[in-house]
Amino acid sequence: MISSFHPPVRTLMGPGPSDVHPRILSALGRPTIGHLDPAFIQMMDEVKELLQYAFQTKNPLTLPISAPGSAGMEACFVNLIEPGDKVVVCVNGVFGIRMLENVTRTGGVAVRVDDEWGKPVDPAKLAAALEANPDTKIMAFVHAETSTGVCSDAATLCALGRKHDCLVIMDTVTGLGGVPVLVDEWGADAVYSGSQKCLSCTPGLSPVTFSERAVEVIRNRKTPVQSWFLDMNLVMGYWGEGAKRAYHHTAPINALYGLHESLVMLQEEGLSAAFARHRVMHEKLYAGLTELGIRFVVDEEYRLPQLNAVWIPEGVDDAVARTRLLNEFNLEIGAGLGAYAGKVWRIGLMGYSAKQENIDLCLKALSAVIAQ
Ligand code: PLP
Repeated sequence: MISSFHPPVRTLMGPGPSDVHPRILSALGRPTIGHLDPAFIQMMDEVKELLQYAFQTKNPLTLPISAPGSAGMEACFVNLIEPGDKVVVCVNGVFGIRMLENVTRTGGVAVRVDDEWGKPVDPAKLAAALEANPDTKIMAFVHAETSTGVCSDAATLCALGRKHDCLVIMDTVTGLGGVPVLVDEWGADAVYSGSQKCLSCTPGLSPVTFSERAVEVIRNRKTPVQSWFLDMNLVMGYWGEGAKRAYHHTAPINALYGLHESLVMLQEEGLSAAFARHRVMHEKLYAGLTELGIRFVVDEEYRLPQLNAVWIPEGVDDAVARTRLLNEFNLEIGAGLGAYAGKVWRIGLMGYSAKQENIDLCLKALSAVIAQ
């Protein structure tokens, strides 16, 4: 007979999920109540307010989509694109490619602007594409590319989008809580993230925020949003303003307790302190890895502190090494994605994982594995 599942206790230093804080795990186990219970609705309002803080926005339409980051991504694309709309997509890694997929599947006309993997989005190339395509409705880019560990200059890219009168879609699944995300100051219109990265919550929720401009566009669409579940016109009925909420779907109640707790913790720590902690831990990891002779993929200026992409040392077998890390040290680090498969490791320092004891374990484990 199959009995209860008890997972091994791992240290999660991959590209997400990150280690979940015990406070969040304990919040998940609190009694389930109804998704229209007044107490739950009050908690939903707090989640919205806490997300506004995390995103640094006053956007009323700020909420967690009841599904992982990929659903937040789809929510932004399906709500803003109507068939035939032109969308300029910046691609400098796997998640930019996924954006392209979303554009074509939604009936949009994609204009692809490529940058080399491991490099940030080049504002000059984007500017040229926007000038060559004055009928562009939307510009999309990945702020924190998890496949390469690169942080792009979101302020400059958003400003270019605004200058050309585009709506700006920004992926900050890996950015939120780890590096500054200034939605209002930058002028991004549709932004999505994930619960399992620097927020250190369990996977499966995707915080999103839409500007008033974006909401206007969504409300005045000529065609219905192709996804019923992600249609923000309908989702707003459940997550919208005021105490009166209509059933849309059964919210993942306990998962939202977890997100609430993780956001309370972020508020307690404060955004600047959280960013500083990620930076300090990254510097310590960088020093230790350099001592082991391990080189970073990304130039210092563009490195994400929470996602450290490094070249796998010569002669070391990727799969064998990662299996040993898992089996002998209960340590998970990430494999390379796409063009980086077999060449790169991705070492996460996200949220609760960004701490000294994780760095000590990682350096000890890697040095043992590499030595053999
Ligand atoms: N975008 C980026 C930049 C990501 O790193 C990820 C996940 O790693 C996603 C989107 C998709 O999120 P999820 O795996 O939660 O669906």
